[in-house]
Amino acid sequence: MKAPAHGLASKLPDVGTTIFSVMSKLASDHNAINLSQGFPDFEPPKGLLDALQARLSQGGYHQYPPMHGIADLRCQIAEKVRRHYRVTVDPELDITVTSGATEALFVAMQAVVQPHDEVILFDPAYDAYDPAVRLAGGIPVHLALKAPHFTIDLALLRAAITPKTRLLVINSPHNPCGSLIDAETLKAIGQLATEFGLYVLSDEVYEHMVFDDARHISALEIPDLKDRSFVVSSFGKTYHATGWKVAYCIAPEALTREFRKVHQFVTFTTHTPSQWAIADFMASDQGHVENLSAFYQDKRDRFLRLFDGLGFRMRPSPGTYFQLADYSGVAALAHLPDTDCAVALTKNYGVAAIPVSVFYDAPPKSSRVLRFCFAKSDETLIEAARRLALGLGSTGTAP
Ligand code: PMP
Ligand code: GLN
Repeated sequence: MKAPAHGLASKLPDVGTTIFSVMSKLASDHNAINLSQGFPDFEPPKGLLDALQARLSQGGYHQYPPMHGIADLRCQIAEKVRRHYRVTVDPELDITVTSGATEALFVAMQAVVQPHDEVILFDPAYDAYDPAVRLAGGIPVHLALKAPHFTIDLALLRAAITPKTRLLVINSPHNPCGSLIDAETLKAIGQLATEFGLYVLSDEVYEHMVFDDARHISALEIPDLKDRSFVVSSFGKTYHATGWKVAYCIAPEALTREFRKVHQFVTFTTHTPSQWAIADFMASDQGHVENLSAFYQDKRDRFLRLFDGLGFRMRPSPGTYFQLADYSGVAALAHLPDTDCAVALTKNYGVAAIPVSVFYDAPPKSSRVLRFCFAKSDETLIEAARRLALGLGSTGTAP
């Protein structure tokens, strides 16, 4: 398509197509195993699919649901929050069902960020945050997470807060690093947010994927944060159904009121049959959520075993379904910047991954880290490792 003759001034001139679409297309074009974009290659739980089928065959679930989500689902969310975090939230006043966490993040930003407000993000940061801040007229302020465990540097955070700071975006378990924010840090963030009158957007879409006996601490559990946060989660992650795009935002009544003013004009509502199916499944089965961390820890460990000996340096991921891999010791790849490495791995070795530098405003020099998604069947993971062993040699040296 030709550019419009009058010359369109882009609102996001430096933004291209998201890396997830780019890498998934490249994987598909080259018949590569797709360990790039984060989605499972297995089906949602049968009980959830049965619930959807049942609602569809009953009929009557095809029109607009309530703008903030069906009551049954909001009640199930409130009950889950009570069970997991021992926190009470009001299903009518505090919970809004959204069309994916992506919508919730965008809406929360639009709801509170005024032109020229500063919004603090921690790099590497999920790629939807920065453009959403800018589309709201805000100014993203990127702070680096502290190596090697990708933790928040509280002194750096305090120093970055100015009279213009409006919102702080946190993400635990963290995409792409898998790191978790501990209770002490969350409390300190809550104190800072209270002291400076900031709002907090807490992206907790991987809340049920934490490993090695760690526990996810929600912003909802920290009173200072609960009072001023939008807490976002996604059924796409929890129920292996990323294509359903059903998620939610929990926020105190006053924030929820502003959130809904925007949500009603962005998507208005979310797919009706999916909301019913999820509500039904949540009412009948808690086992899926209770077992999810063990399920993914098993996959992470299998991935680490299969990739052991290929030359990647990997610190076991503490959460999410992603594993970072440093390839500076892989002779055949070490000379490549990570964006080139991800392309080469896809085209030449038949395995796609995400370059981590794309999650930075100012990427670290000579970054040599890829992100692999291990939400895949055993066969997929085995085949990916087989291809890499064949291509790289089992010591990580080119054959
Ligand atoms: N936040 C993070 C950290 C994510 O990884 C994702 C990825 N899907 C989202 C938000 C968006 O979730 P959804 O698919 O529900 O829009
Ligand atoms: N969150 C997913 C990931 O990190 C991708 C979601 C998307 O493609 N927008 O891979």
